[in-house]
Amino acid sequence: MTFEDLGVRDDLRRAIEELGFEQPMPVQEKVIPHLLHEDTDVVALAQTGTGKTAAFGLPLLQRIDPSDNAPQALILSPTRELCLQIGSDLADFSKYMPQIKVLPVYGGSSIESQIRALRSGGVQIIVATPGRLIDLINRGVVKLDNVHTVVLDEADEMLNMGFLESIDDILGNVPEQRKMLMFSATMPNEIAKIAKKYMHSPVEFVVGNRNEGAANVRHIYYMVNARNKYLALKRVADDNPNIYGIVFCRTRRDTQEIADKLISDGYNADSLHGDLSQQQRDMVMRKFRDRVTSLLVATDVAARGLDVDDLTHVINYGLPDDTAVYTHRSGRTGRAGKTGVSVAIIHSREKGKLREIEKKIGKKFERCEVPTPQHIIEKQLYNLADRIERVEVNDAEIDKYFSGVRRKLDWLSGEDLLKRVLSLEFNRLLEYYRDAPSLDFIDEKPAKEKQAKPRTDKDKDRRTAEKGMARIYVNIGKNDGFYAGNLIELLNHNVSGSRVDVGRIDLLSGYSLFDVQQADARRVVESLRGSEWLGKRVYSEVADPDKNYTRASSRKSRAQATAETEAIETTYEYFLKKNRGGAKKPSKPSKSSRKKR
Ligand code: AMP
Repeated sequence: MTFEDLGVRDDLRRAIEELGFEQPMPVQEKVIPHLLHEDTDVVALAQTGTGKTAAFGLPLLQRIDPSDNAPQALILSPTRELCLQIGSDLADFSKYMPQIKVLPVYGGSSIESQIRALRSGGVQIIVATPGRLIDLINRGVVKLDNVHTVVLDEADEMLNMGFLESIDDILGNVPEQRKMLMFSATMPNEIAKIAKKYMHSPVEFVVGNRNEGAANVRHIYYMVNARNKYLALKRVADDNPNIYGIVFCRTRRDTQEIADKLISDGYNADSLHGDLSQQQRDMVMRKFRDRVTSLLVATDVAARGLDVDDLTHVINYGLPDDTAVYTHRSGRTGRAGKTGVSVAIIHSREKGKLREIEKKIGKKFERCEVPTPQHIIEKQLYNLADRIERVEVNDAEIDKYFSGVRRKLDWLSGEDLLKRVLSLEFNRLLEYYRDAPSLDFIDEKPAKEKQAKPRTDKDKDRRTAEKGMARIYVNIGKNDGFYAGNLIELLNHNVSGSRVDVGRIDLLSGYSLFDVQQADARRVVESLRGSEWLGKRVYSEVADPDKNYTRASSRKSRAQATAETEAIETTYEYFLKKNRGGAKKPSKPSKSSRKKR
């Protein structure tokens, strides 16, 4: 299906092609033809990031009469940031429609300049926050008599923010015979009520499941004692050297406190909450959008309207009471076809809330171990190595100093030099994490009871590949000192040919499971089988969702334990014999060292 098939005109198609839109996204396939060719109202359940702005924006632009200078379409948005975003998207889409004028009007900024822009005439599309629009209507600057289309964007957010009455007032100024579209990420009953009240037999489109979170978001949680939440947050940040995420807190005070602590601990963080002035908030958001800051600690309300598409993580510093808030939070990652992780750092009393959210989003949270110091150090060192590989060397500038520095370091071998460069990072981390305890909350159930617990579907889920991928089993796990970085290392070392893209990874104590592209599965399994990891012979296969690998691996580790006991006994016998005189030295179990990439 192409935009042309959907009936989008060529001047719009030219503009969106330049924006890199090759194919319509699902919400666009559903909504665009309807808006272009049908007369009924529309309710679309779609999260931000699904392409909904173009879904309503393109047909809306196409239906504007350029010869009529009065406002013909009205888009209501809950926040000024979203309002500006929609305004700028529509301006991009209408690049080749010079007669079309779009104006965003929103609170927190000079009303005079907005009045001037409206009075100068020719504005056919108004994108507005409700409060400011009412102000402008009351001042007689905006007339909505010619409006034929009204869009309510993020309707659930508008309700949360108490805009119901304002919407009532605004719609009272728009002709009865208008067409109305409502977009919402969740479908609380109130939305259904609005639809009933203001719309004429609306057609409903659902992109993804009702109230479900975005499909490509992984939901994980760490359970820690309440006093360890902040430490766990730092470990998550340390374990993801390229993190770009929002940390959601419940109160403004928490938000400020956590951000202050992160900043004083050397993280690239900032806070966003309602106690800041509009100017301060704008600056914080700009820095975050420009990636000057990589962690934004925010309240839910303040983060509304902050539109960034490529967050790697959403971190829930505690879970919200309202499950819809969780859907909004997690929907901020995994946008526009990318994958994302929604992390919850919780204490044991929040488990009930977690289950409620699972029911609502129709997905299970994975419980993960808080990243260990060893793992973090490894990740950071490899990240440093990556940065060394990729850094742009500015020969012209560095040459001025190079010979001097080189003379100074001449006495070091290449290997020494590298070790020292890595140690700059390594020593810092080692110092910080020296004697750092595990942060995981230990469930107080007796070990036996835990073992007897029936195995859940989670195990099966773990053995099942994500869509389009193949799940691979290897017989090495965390007990073997095997972590995600090692897996990549193992693949790089053993699998020849094109680079293997690894998806979801589950590291268990006795074995590991990970996803690769289906086309790579055979190559990976065959190359890994028979290779070695720290002296252990690797076995690999395409994972069978119905096979109990835990049992198999514990049988293996029993066999391994027996072998080790035998080795110790042989050594012991050797000493006995040696003391008695003349014994042959037993062969040590091989410990071939790990090969470097
Ligand atoms: P939205 O849900 O409207 O905020 O859109 C999310 C992101 O997807 C924006 O960055 C859009 O520019 C982008 N986008 C929308 N439609 C398409 C498309 N058909 N192809 C590629 N990117 C798109």
